[in-house]
Amino acid sequence: MKVYIDGEFVDKQDAKISVFDHGLLYGDGIFEGIRVYKNCVYRLDEHLERLEYSAKSILMDLPLSREEMSEVVCESCRVNGISDGYVRLVVTRGEGNLGLSPDSCLKPSVISIADKISLYPEEYYTQGLSIITVPTRRMGPAALNPGIKSLNYLNNIMAKMEAAQRGALEAIMLNDQGFIAECTGDNLFIVHKGILYTPDIANGALRGITRQAVIDLARERDLELKECDLTRYEVWNADECFLTGTAAELIPVVALDERKIGDGKPGPVTKQLHSAFHDEVSTRGAML
Ligand code: PMP
Repeated sequence: MKVYIDGEFVDKQDAKISVFDHGLLYGDGIFEGIRVYKNCVYRLDEHLERLEYSAKSILMDLPLSREEMSEVVCESCRVNGISDGYVRLVVTRGEGNLGLSPDSCLKPSVISIADKISLYPEEYYTQGLSIITVPTRRMGPAALNPGIKSLNYLNNIMAKMEAAQRGALEAIMLNDQGFIAECTGDNLFIVHKGILYTPDIANGALRGITRQAVIDLARERDLELKECDLTRYEVWNADECFLTGTAAELIPVVALDERKIGDGKPGPVTKQLHSAFHDEVSTRGAML
């Protein structure tokens, strides 16, 4: 495997950055997780736009333009023969001294890793996930804004560990007001009486690319969709629930906190949207 670092493709074992990089010292940096389907880098432009928004939010000047960044992602797939897989694009603050201030960092480092992807086992797509709500809350927008896809993922990692301790693969994170923000690495949707609901971004969710894909697909199909405040009560009493994420795609949820959702099986709207999603993934994005 060849990894892109700052203008060069190097062997995996030589793909290293400085221990003084503030990405390592402080989680000071940003990233994107991107899927490739049949030689198509899915919604690459949307990912790069989100990366630019993250960079702007943390006052980081990206060293590459949108076009250059796009080429880096595509080239890392080509070099590694990845026609179906996953790209992790990372921009760290760069090498500096031990102080918090990024003023000592000369320039951000760009890293792109193209690899195969390990998905949730197939049975979870056919049978659905049982998830829980964990005690760790999602950070509020006045702290580290959850819209920023930063290298500082401890908030979500804590929640993920709490889920694992209780045998769940994913978990709902509430915000400080008790409304649902999102899951540890996925956005959440429910279906109730034919209407699709997802937490409003202001509740502390990442503006997921897959979330947006589902919103677009729902609109194209005249499915009513509301972005609003949701509590666990709405999920417990929903007809269907599913999660969205670049790695997970659309994965059904059939129980939350030991309450069965709907009839406890993946529902028709979830299936319809997942199949519509599959139809578009290899056609929408940058072709390799
Ligand atoms: N929320 C969080 C916290 C995430 O890390 C991710 C990405 N894994 C998502 C939601 C889903 O976003 P996307 O559809 O862009 O992958």
